[in-house]
Amino acid sequence: MNTKKLQRQIKKRPIEYARMTVQLLFLFFILYVGLRFYLFYNHFATFGEAPFVERPPAVEGFLPVSALIGFKVWISTGDFDPIHPAGLVLLTFIVGSGLLFRRSFCSWICPIGTVSEWTGKLGKMIMKKKTYDLPKWLTWVLSPIKYLVLAFFLKYILFDMPAAAALDFMFSQYNVISDVKMLTFFLNISSFAVKFILVIFVLSLFFKNFWCRFLCPYGALIGLGSLLGITKIKRNEDTCIDCNACTRVCPQRIKVSEKKAVLTPECSACMLCVEACPVKDTLTVNVAGKKVNKWFVPAAFFGVFALVYITARLTGHWETILTYEDFKYLISIVESIGH
Ligand code: SF4
Ligand code: SF4
Repeated sequence: MNTKKLQRQIKKRPIEYARMTVQLLFLFFILYVGLRFYLFYNHFATFGEAPFVERPPAVEGFLPVSALIGFKVWISTGDFDPIHPAGLVLLTFIVGSGLLFRRSFCSWICPIGTVSEWTGKLGKMIMKKKTYDLPKWLTWVLSPIKYLVLAFFLKYILFDMPAAAALDFMFSQYNVISDVKMLTFFLNISSFAVKFILVIFVLSLFFKNFWCRFLCPYGALIGLGSLLGITKIKRNEDTCIDCNACTRVCPQRIKVSEKKAVLTPECSACMLCVEACPVKDTLTVNVAGKKVNKWFVPAAFFGVFALVYITARLTGHWETILTYEDFKYLISIVESIGH
């Protein structure tokens, strides 16, 4: 594509290109966090031979179960998780953001969502723009999976687990070193895990957003907030020309052109449908009953995200209390923890 054509495309679909840019930036950021965390671990794993690198707290964003247990302790005792505070801040923000911004996290930030979506785009390129979808009955069978996994974790952690047990777990060696455990899992990945990832990859080539639509319990949890319907996409049936452009671009395969309002928790508030609609004021974004600009939801989402991050840093709710000596000891025995 030449530069002029690209400029025209960006002007025509600014949200789509802004979203792609943000997704790419976050993907690089996560890779950078992963690399720094590996270097941090490697310093201890080599008994100090490799240079020391500060541990990036953002790595705790990959510990949702630990964060959920931290949340349980927080609401039960009022004590904020001092072991993985960044994980708890991120979980609280991400899940809470679902109330106002629907699943904006999934469509703008989540690296797994990005890889899943771009794998679908790659599949479309390979198959010369041909797209596939699962038969309706199979969609019905697969759709509840992520909600069942979510229900299991919510029931077990938030309802069945006594607060004292959650507190014990929070300070257990397994939880304290769970970020390193996760890293060693990927460094010594089992053939089963590789096969599982490959299967998901191949399915994502054929079926748009397979992971997000059917398997991700985190996305399911964020989506629950949208059931309150504070933010929704509305379609004006009188002015709609039934061109189907909105349905075609939807990464979640929602049949937007057949709805009066998009209320499903599957909507990731990507705004692609609103941008694709060729008729002015036909597909609109509404927050608390008021029509807003298509940029409002993503802009407010990132504004609140920045505010939460800055507040967490300034109030001491971002850095772990664990010391260099704690990591030195725990990494030296990491293989024996949890066995
Ligand atoms: S309904 Fe619109 S905003 Fe929601 S996921 Fe589909 S394209 Fe994005
Ligand atoms: S893109 Fe707009 S005009 Fe076309 S079907 Fe969707 S809502 Fe109707």
